[in-house]
Amino acid sequence: RRRLDSRSGPPAGLLADVQTPVSPEPLEAVYEVTGELGRGKFAVVKRCVEKTTGKVFAAKFLRKRRRGRDCRAEVLHEMAVLEAARNSPRVVNLHAAHETDHDVVLILEYAAGGEIFDLCVSEELLPEAQITRLIRQTLEGVHHLHQTNLVHLDLKPQNILLTSVSPPGDIKIVDFGLARRLGAAGELREIVGTPEYVAPEVLNYEPITTAADLWSVGVIAYMLVTGESPFAGDDRQETYLNVSQVNVDYSRESFSRVSELSVDFIRKLLQKAPEDRPNAAECLGHPWLWNQHPEPAAATVPVRPARERSCGAKWAAPP
Ligand code: ADP
Ligand code: MG
Repeated sequence: RRRLDSRSGPPAGLLADVQTPVSPEPLEAVYEVTGELGRGKFAVVKRCVEKTTGKVFAAKFLRKRRRGRDCRAEVLHEMAVLEAARNSPRVVNLHAAHETDHDVVLILEYAAGGEIFDLCVSEELLPEAQITRLIRQTLEGVHHLHQTNLVHLDLKPQNILLTSVSPPGDIKIVDFGLARRLGAAGELREIVGTPEYVAPEVLNYEPITTAADLWSVGVIAYMLVTGESPFAGDDRQETYLNVSQVNVDYSRESFSRVSELSVDFIRKLLQKAPEDRPNAAECLGHPWLWNQHPEPAAATVPVRPARERSCGAKWAAPP
C-alpha cells in the first residue's frame, strides 16, 4: 500500500470547512476501544464501542505529524470531505472526532463486513448478480461525490467496505485522505494513489478529472469478476507500463463464468483517454448492471473464453 506522494508541503486545494467539533475529551472516556480493523501508512483503524449507547464504531487514528511535518490540515481536510459527502448512504458516516497529543481520531460508522478486497482474493468469487449490485452501489456513491465536485482518487477494493459479509451487505466508501475538490483552484495534477488502481493520467501527472475514479471502478469490477488485479506487474515499473499501455487481459478463462456484457462494461471504463470513459451516471445505465444474472448451476456451465461484445455507444437510462 505505497503511495507515490513525494510532496513536501501541504497539497493545494484542501478543504478546511469542518463542522464536526473535534473533542479534546480522552477517547477512553467515551468509548471502549477494542481490536484493530485495519491500518495504512499514517492511520490505524480500531473497533470501538460507545459506552453510553453500546453502539459499535470504527475509530480512525490519524497521525498529526508525518515525516516530521505538521499534517493537521490534511486530517481536517479528510473530515471536511466526509462532511461534504455525508448525504450519500454509500459514503461512510462521520459520527464524531477526538484529538489526542499525536492523533486526530475520526469516529466512523462501522462497516462490519470488511473490505471487498477479501471478495476479490477469495477462493469462491461472488455470483455475477452480487457483483453487479456492489458495482451499482459503488457507482451511486461515486456519482454523488462527483455531483459534489469531489474526486476520491484512491478507489480500490481495500477502500470499499461492506456493512455485512455473508450474505454481502451494502457498500460503504471510505478513506478520503486523497480526495480533492475540482474546479475552484483550476487544474488538478497530483501523483497519488496506488499504481495498480490509478488511471494513466494520474500516473503521468496529467490533469485529473472525475474520470480518474471511473477507471478505478473498472479495475474493481475486473477484480470482483476475475479475482485478479488487471495491471499488477512483478514490480512497480511493470505495473506502470501495464497501466499506461492499458495492457489488460480480457481473454482469460475467468470471464467464462460471467456474461459478455461484463467485458463490455469493463472495457468502456479502462480506456486510456479520460474523455472516452463514460461518467458515473452513464455507467449506471449500462445493461450489465441491470440484466438478470441467474446463478449458474456450476456443473452445467460450459467453460469458454469470453468474446468481446459492444452494446453500442448509447446506453439506456437507468430504470
Ligand atoms: P488508510 O488511509 O490508512 O488506508 P482507511 O480509511 O482506508 O485508512 O482504513 C484502513 C482500513 O481500516 C480499511 O481498509 C478497512 O479495512 C478498515 N476500516 C476503515 N474504516 C472502517 C470502518 N468504518 N469500518 C470498518 N473497517 C474500517
Ligand atoms: Mg485505505
